[in-house]
Amino acid sequence: MPTVRRINELDEQFKSLSDDGLRARTTNWKEEISKIPDPHEQWKKLDEILPEAFAVVKNAARRLKDRGQTFTVCDQPMVWDMVHFDVQLLGGIVLHRGRIAEMATGEGKTLVATLPLYLNALTGRGAHLVTVNDYLARRDAEWMGQLYSFLGLTVGCIQHDQEPDVRREQYAMDITYGTNSEFGFDYLRDNGMATTREQQVQRGYCYAIVDEVDSILIDEARTPLIISGPATISTHQYDKWKPLIEQLVRKQNMLCNRLASEAIEKFEQDDVETGGRLMFKVKLGQPRNKQLLRLMEDPDKRRAIDKAELSFYQDTRKEELFQLKEELFFTIDEKSNEADLSEQGRIFLNPDDPNAFVLPDLINEFTEIDLDQTLSPEEKDKKKAERQQHCDTQAERIHNISQLLRAYCLFEKDVQYVIEDNKVVIVDEFTGRKMPGRRWSDGLHQAVEAKEGVQIDRETQTLATITIQNYFRLYQKLAGMTGTAETEAAEFHDIYKLDVNMIPTNRPVRRTDANDRIYKTRREKYNAVIKEIKEAHAKSQPVLVGTVSVEASELLSRMLKREKIPHNVLNAKFHMQEAEIVARAGQPGTVTISTNMAGRGTDIKLGLGVTELGGLMVVGTERHEARRIDRQLRGRCARQGDPGASRFYVSFEDDLMRNFGAADRMTKIMERFGLEEGQELEHRWLNKSVETAQKRVEQRNYLIRKRTLDFDDVMNMQREVVYTWRNEVIDAEEPRTHIYEVIDEAVPARAKEYFDGEEPNYTGLIHWVNTTFPLGLTKEKAQFETRSAEENTQFLIEKIKNAYERKSSHEEPTAVKSLERYIILNAIDRLWQEHLYAMDALREGVYLRGYAQKDPLIEYKTEAYDMFVELMANIKNEVLNNLFRSTSNLQAFENFLATLPQFLLREEGPIAPTATADARIRHPVGAMAAVGADGDGDGAGDLSIDLPIRRSLPKVGRNEPCPCGSGKKYKNCCGRVA
Ligand code: ADP
Ligand code: MG
Repeated sequence: MPTVRRINELDEQFKSLSDDGLRARTTNWKEEISKIPDPHEQWKKLDEILPEAFAVVKNAARRLKDRGQTFTVCDQPMVWDMVHFDVQLLGGIVLHRGRIAEMATGEGKTLVATLPLYLNALTGRGAHLVTVNDYLARRDAEWMGQLYSFLGLTVGCIQHDQEPDVRREQYAMDITYGTNSEFGFDYLRDNGMATTREQQVQRGYCYAIVDEVDSILIDEARTPLIISGPATISTHQYDKWKPLIEQLVRKQNMLCNRLASEAIEKFEQDDVETGGRLMFKVKLGQPRNKQLLRLMEDPDKRRAIDKAELSFYQDTRKEELFQLKEELFFTIDEKSNEADLSEQGRIFLNPDDPNAFVLPDLINEFTEIDLDQTLSPEEKDKKKAERQQHCDTQAERIHNISQLLRAYCLFEKDVQYVIEDNKVVIVDEFTGRKMPGRRWSDGLHQAVEAKEGVQIDRETQTLATITIQNYFRLYQKLAGMTGTAETEAAEFHDIYKLDVNMIPTNRPVRRTDANDRIYKTRREKYNAVIKEIKEAHAKSQPVLVGTVSVEASELLSRMLKREKIPHNVLNAKFHMQEAEIVARAGQPGTVTISTNMAGRGTDIKLGLGVTELGGLMVVGTERHEARRIDRQLRGRCARQGDPGASRFYVSFEDDLMRNFGAADRMTKIMERFGLEEGQELEHRWLNKSVETAQKRVEQRNYLIRKRTLDFDDVMNMQREVVYTWRNEVIDAEEPRTHIYEVIDEAVPARAKEYFDGEEPNYTGLIHWVNTTFPLGLTKEKAQFETRSAEENTQFLIEKIKNAYERKSSHEEPTAVKSLERYIILNAIDRLWQEHLYAMDALREGVYLRGYAQKDPLIEYKTEAYDMFVELMANIKNEVLNNLFRSTSNLQAFENFLATLPQFLLREEGPIAPTATADARIRHPVGAMAAVGADGDGDGAGDLSIDLPIRRSLPKVGRNEPCPCGSGKKYKNCCGRVA
């Protein structure tokens, strides 16, 4: 480790410096680097000074320790007692290089991060540290802040309840701590909502370290950050269908119970084949059927059921499988989370018209319409539109129903969600954390709300959205740290281009990981867990019990209460309090039950005498879907060379085992060992089988995340284009250049529509021009025939710009600038939000198309591209449309009108031949808007243009002359109250 040696040498040398001498390094470097204009050159410089800079930080830490520096962190008194270990220096180097450092729990990652944060903050462009919750952000900022402020760097911390002004201050600091969602939402607000620089709080994305990077980039990868408002349209019919679906589910459950009883009879008569077949049917219709679950415990029966299932999935039996499904009302696929109605089910829901739940064959219908000789082209279009509409209605209905079925059959209260304050709150399946405010998409949330009879919240419209992944991709350099990244190294590499480096521990690990104990049923498993806890508790050894869900935590808690064993339960709800509880989990005799995110980031130190008892004992009550989460749990004990032990308990009823277990092999094993009630299995190679199941799920979940990201990538590119444009406009000294760019691009596009074709459509063009710009154009004046299409376009552009110059020359320059920004931003925001809505719909839509054997992603990409091209064109057109319809103030508008002496300001004017009777819009300022304006001022009398003004009422005194020029008093003219 030459670099580490070098750092230590320098640290040794720096001991002779005064405090100020050490601090001076910071200022000098900052100044030096600020003179380097190119960011890449800046990075190079940082690489060069790394050993010195790290040594400065380490040396500062040493000084704080030597002095016994005391301070408070989250209102708790603390003493500084850390100087960077060599492995921590190593971790710091990895982080500086933009990689993931895997360092075990308790290795001091918080301190490791100070090294690269200090170094990268020297650019003055901000360095961010991302934590998993607000409490940790504050704790680490206050704690590590000791070091930064000693060295002359400022540190800030983003908290959920901060106002924009406070946030801006925090971002302005050299180093900023905060959670991923606060960073992400600030980005969305800055780029999607703020209309001036002053309103924005962030200042760029230079370098970020993500703590617990696996949790943030992998576990949270499936739910994007969304800022939303109420949608304008709501189409759901969940209320309407709920009673029928409830009946249908009940009918199906009765049917499945009957089938299960029949199956049991068959098994008793030794007709194993029929029994297996029947039970497979139950599995299709009610995967969580109690009798089914019980039968699966029996190796023989389990094998019969698996065999039946396998045989049905052979190609030759497709038809039979279909028939089997048709004997049910609907089928549920637990693995893929899908629900499908059968013919019977459709008839039940709508006896009069079972076809109400199948999509019509549009292609066929369209062909028939096309072939129909009796229809005129218009009639054909009309008919097609009708059929399309019909198809959309059907699709919506099918969607509603399948979401309700999923809500009833696959989503269980207190497992996937809880009810709180009359709301459905999602429980994260990975972490057991409640996620208030987040909603399942695609109407599923509403379906669950309908099922639970709570208020069905209005479908909301997305105003801005980004996935956490894509937020982090904004950073020029990204790094991460966690105790558990190795198992997901491939995903980090493929998706984020982040390589994982394993850092050795500071001291040898002394943890013993026992083999899994495997039971037939959950009940037996939990009994064994309680027994183990009791034994440890009897000798005062502390125990940390990990669960995968809130429900399991509560069950265990009840069992422990019965045994009169005092304990704490943590659900990752109150971060600060839970951190305090977890910190004490190593005290003698403590029992702590925790879902896996609870208290993450908090160190568990062993209490007095606990080392002699074997340290902290970790008990896992279920294997998690991802091995990573299990490793995380194990890592909670045996930190920094402490002793510790861990063991997992598994049952065949666990979801992992049911859905992904090597069922066949397990069944054989159970037989061979002749497992009795309450008996357990334990063997090295059983761990392997469990691991195989986990790998399978990991692979599947990876594909799902990848897919989500593939979809989001499309959006991400679009978002970048739109947000960049938006920011350019916000920052522009001369927003008019952007206005002119729009004119230069949009006018030719529109003009082309009129010039192209066999005969140029000059009349139409003049009509468009005159309804959009106050040019008062006539055929005679335009002389289009004398020029080429290109020249004509140029002619129009000149005229429009000319008129615009005139209009704005009467206004106050800064007011004009903000008006110009407003015109563009307003167009972008309004249409972008509509676009997001349409993209949501498209995303749902392509899945329906997925049934037609097309790849939804490809469909989505193609259509999304077309929609985006259209969006950009629409924004520009909207800008054109508003160019002359907005004015920064009324006075300016009057001034403008006053410079048009030749033009009639009239209440009613003759309508020009080419003009715009149909485009007239009546509005509060009435006649005032009926002006014609022409920069050349030579076309008096032959035009009439409507210019709707964007403000509702002019600010004019009631007795003053009306601004419309009628000569009447305002109150008797336009200001008359109707
Ligand atoms: P991690 O995030 O890696 O799990 P933490 O940053 O929470 O670990 O640190 C764990 C504990 O180790 C903390 O109590 C911290 O004070 C201690 N620690 C970290 N680095 C050092 C060090 N160099 N010397 C002494 N104690 C340290
Ligand atoms: Mg930590």
